[in-house]
Order: sequence, then structure tokens, then C-alpha cells
Amino acid sequence: MGFSGWRVLKEGLSGNRGWDAHWRDAAPKDAYDVVIIGAGGHGLATAYYLAKNHGITNVAVLEKGYLGGGNVGRNTTIVRANYMMPGNSEFYSHSLKLWEGMEADLNYNVMHSQRGQIVLFHSDGQRDAGVRRGNAMINQGDDAELLSRADVRRMLPYLDYHNARFPIYGGLLQQRAGTARHDAVAWGYARGASDRGVDLIQNCEVTGIDIEAGTVKGVQTTRGAIKAKKVAIIVAGRSGQVAAMAGMRLPIESHVLQAFVTEGLKPCINHVVSFGMGHFYISQSDKGGLVFGGDLDFYASYAARGNLPMAEHVMEAGMTLMPMIGKAKVLRSWGGIMDMTPDGSPIIDKTGTDGLYIDCGWCYGGFKAVPGSGYSMAHLVATDTHHEPAARYRLDRFRTGRGLMDEEGTGAQHNLH
Ligand SMILES: Cc1cc2nc3c(=O)[nH]c(=O)nc-3n(C[C@H](O)[C@H](O)[C@H](O)COP(=O)(O)OP(=O)(O)OC[C@H]3O[C@@H](n4cnc5c(N)ncnc54)[C@H](O)[C@@H]3O)c2cc1C
Repeated sequence: MGFSGWRVLKEGLSGNRGWDAHWRDAAPKDAYDVVIIGAGGHGLATAYYLAKNHGITNVAVLEKGYLGGGNVGRNTTIVRANYMMPGNSEFYSHSLKLWEGMEADLNYNVMHSQRGQIVLFHSDGQRDAGVRRGNAMINQGDDAELLSRADVRRMLPYLDYHNARFPIYGGLLQQRAGTARHDAVAWGYARGASDRGVDLIQNCEVTGIDIEAGTVKGVQTTRGAIKAKKVAIIVAGRSGQVAAMAGMRLPIESHVLQAFVTEGLKPCINHVVSFGMGHFYISQSDKGGLVFGGDLDFYASYAARGNLPMAEHVMEAGMTLMPMIGKAKVLRSWGGIMDMTPDGSPIIDKTGTDGLYIDCGWCYGGFKAVPGSGYSMAHLVATDTHHEPAARYRLDRFRTGRGLMDEEGTGAQHNLH
């Protein structure tokens, strides 16, 4: 089933009775060439690029809940490529280019909106760091623009410029950054993979990984055993638990990150705005809700819900930056489980078991990585070689100390910054 303006018009005039299901809800077969554990953004994108780029279609994606019910459907939808360190810079740059072609590639409206992200400065030191980061972004081939205080005031008139605890000195704009509709990204990749023959299997929890003489043989699931020549673990916040089924102990701590949305308001925030003196970021959804978030909960947890102290902390940051937000009513808050690595950078690698691969450690920034991660992970699984933009995401950097990417300069306790 293809989407086009003509099709939307025709269906709109004929009661919308001609649409099919977007993907097949498959039942598990006995064996596959590749089993992917986890139908989040990264698992689905991996399945799609395995089929599209490498012609590998005898693939199952196993999901313990429903497709897209994890972090891919829980994030604040920010897409950007404003990293500074080698390793991350080239990866996120590649991922943003894939975003820019995604809707045409998938024939799916993911509502990708390059409305621009502005990261604010509140001191001379922050401005210097922002200039350095902007130059690194430009050297990588991405866009960055330094904004003066007057520029910011013109573009974001609703911020507090009069009596602010942290005065605004300026900002760093990436115009190609923005947002996308998170569920649609999962659905678009699911549809593209399913159309190419991939089985998407929901309500199928992996409970064990079968390994014989150092080689993966398949998985145990709540819907029976499934044989596989290759298995890819792509389960975000559950990475530590699933990797333990293969005898691995990952350098990952799982923490909850919360997000909030207000009632629908008239358009008032045209960009993604990030506060420089605290962890607070905000944008406005197409329905009008202000979507915002902040810090991680400070303790490790597998509960996909947040707590009130962190809600208060995020609201305080919002009120400091834009007191007008105090008039909006919060409709909902929710949480997702983040797979935090010590250097804040991810892992896309083989494991010590032949045929077993892992893609994890996306921390709180893995939504924008969905296309790049799927592309690079599919390359690794299909060819057993690392895809260049993701070549530094090696697991052993945490054992050897070589190749760590301390992006935010927060040292070995990224989860605590
Ligand atoms: C509140 C919040 C805000 C965020 N904001 C942003 C943002 O603005 N920008 C950004 O880039 N990133 C953001 N992120 C991070 C981003 O959402 C994640 O890094 C990314 O979605 C993780 O990858 P995924 O989509 O594959 O994860 P998931 O969607 O969580 O996919 C993993 C899947 O694996 C399944 N699974 C787990 N265990 C098993 C098992 N044993 N068997 C079978 N299936 C299993 C899970 O059910 C889940 O569906 C945010 C996250 C949260 C929670």
C-alpha cells in the first residue's frame, strides 16, 4: 500500500475504507537467518536496512510488548547533529542526513520538522564552549550559527530577559535540527521491513539465548524456541538484562527519564529550545502541547515511570527560563528506561559469542540515532565489518579505556551529570 496525496484525497472522499494494516502481525517460524530482539526504533530500523540494503529478509523482530511501546514512543522527539567529539560527530551527521531523506525513502509521513534547535548560553565561558562546538559541527559538514542575545530575544521573545537568575548571553542554533513524530518513525520502519518480508512478532518476550561452543544458535521465547544463525540484541533500557542471558555484563546502568506535555496551546514556541544552566528542553507539538523534559532520575530503575521530586526539578527549570509556562496545565507525564554508558556514547558491536551482536547505550539521545543506528547495525550484522560512521562504538573501550568519547566532559559517571 503506497501513500500519496491522491490516495489521501480518494480515501477521504470514500470513507477511508481502503486502507490496509501497515504491517503483518506475524507468528513465529521455527528458524530465521537473523533474529532481532526488540521492536523499538533501532530494532525496526535495523530490520528495514537489513532487507533494503543487504537483501536479508528471513528476519524476525521479537517484541515482548507491542511494537513501538518502548522509548521510541516515549521520547521528546528531538532530532539534531550537534556533537563535538570524533566518533559521535560523524555518526550523528550521517544519521541526520538519513532523517532528511526518510519520508521519501519509507513513503511515510514521520512529520520531520527542521524547525531549528537553540542551545542557550548564560555565561562567557558557555559562549566560548558553544563557539568551539559550533566550529566542530561546521568542520563535520553540519550547520551551526552563533546567535547574540539580541538575536535570541528576537527569535524567542517569551524567555525571561528582565529578572532572570541566569541571564541569557546568546545561543547556538542548528537550523537543520528539529523534531519528528516518534510513533510514526517506528510505524514507518515497521511497514518498510514488513513489506520486504520481515516478520514482526509482538507479545514475544525473549527469555534465553541459546549458545553452543561459543556460537549463537537461537533464542528461547514466551512463544517457544526459535533457531537463528545470527541474533541482535537491540533492547535499549533492558540491555543489561538481555545481555546477561548470554553471560555478558555490560557497562550500562538503566535510569528513568521523564517527559511532560501540556494542554494544547496556540503556536507560541517555534523552535526546540535548550536551557544552558540546567537540564531542560522544550518544543511545541503539532497538536499544540508543550513537550518538555529534563534530568534523569538519579537512581537506577527498570520502572518506566517517574517520581515527583524530578517532576518538581524540571518544572523549576522551566519556570526559571520562561515564567509564562506556569500558566499552562500539564496533561501527562511518563517515563522511559535509558541505557546509560559511562562515556555517554553508544555501543554497536559484535560480542564474544559468534553470531551475537549488540546495539545499545543510547542514553537519553537515541531517538535521533534511529536511522543511523539501524543502517550501521544492519551493515555489521550483514557483513561482519563495522560501518565507518559507527566504527568507534566498540564495546571493549570500557575495558581498555582506549577510544572513550567523553562527549560532555562528565567523566566516568555520565548518569550523574
Ligand atoms: C522521556 C524521554 C525523552 C527522550 N527524548 C529524546 C529526544 O528528544 N531525542 C532523542 O534523540 N532521544 C530521546 N530519548 C531517548 C530515545 O527515546 C532512546 O534512546 C531510544 O528510543 C532507544 O532506542 P529504541 O527506540 O530502540 O528503544 P525502545 O523503543 O525502548 O526499544 C526496545 C524494545 O525492546 C523490547 N524488549 C526489551 N526486552 C525484551 C525482551 N526480553 N524480549 C523482547 N523484546 C524486549 C522493549 O519492549 C522495547 O520495545 C528520550 C527517551 C525518553 C524516555
